[in-house]
Amino acid sequence: MKLIFATQNQHKLQEIKLLLPKSIELISLADLNFTDDIAETADTLKGNALLKAKYIYERFAINCFADDSGLEVEALNGAPGVYSARYAGLQKSDVDNNQKLLAELKDKPNRNACFKTVIALILNGKEYTFDGIIKGTILSEMQGTQGFGYDPLFKPNGYNKTFAQISADEKSKISHRALAVNKLVDFLSENAK
Ligand code: IMP
Repeated sequence: MKLIFATQNQHKLQEIKLLLPKSIELISLADLNFTDDIAETADTLKGNALLKAKYIYERFAINCFADDSGLEVEALNGAPGVYSARYAGLQKSDVDNNQKLLAELKDKPNRNACFKTVIALILNGKEYTFDGIIKGTILSEMQGTQGFGYDPLFKPNGYNKTFAQISADEKSKISHRALAVNKLVDFLSENAK
């Protein structure tokens, strides 16, 4: 079965290719010569994931999935959430986003947060969603140089290191993305033979 992953991110694409059952032929947007930016106009991660998956499904009439992720901070009522990539502005700088987060949390004792991924799948016209959540805390300064985004400020519960201080391999086993991908893979293994 052909299945499109509606992402421009080649790293995510390669990662998921290794996990999917062999019966699935994964197609990228690059394979389809589709380079447009799909505007993420929904106000939830699920809404954006569905919007991207539906857009591509309607355009190419091929089964399709898309993902959206973000950081939700308890003391900020779930912000930056769906706006994680552009928290400090449209220029999308990780350092600016981390600095804004630290400023917003200054003097706030509750540092609880979670990373969340939602994957939306359109399979034969039906919608399915899968989520992955990892809980942790936001430190008061950046630590570590690996990873991306808010990794240097996020310490997963049960670890004494930030996401930016653990290897990509270790992160890929426990991350929000991995948890959602595993649910998708289980579902496809059963339902898309
Ligand atoms: P995306 O939907 O996977 O592109 O994620 C949107 C934004 O959420 C990213 O630009 C990051 O700011 C943040 N984010 C998502 N996943 C992670 C992660 O694993 N580590 C750090 N930041 C993340």
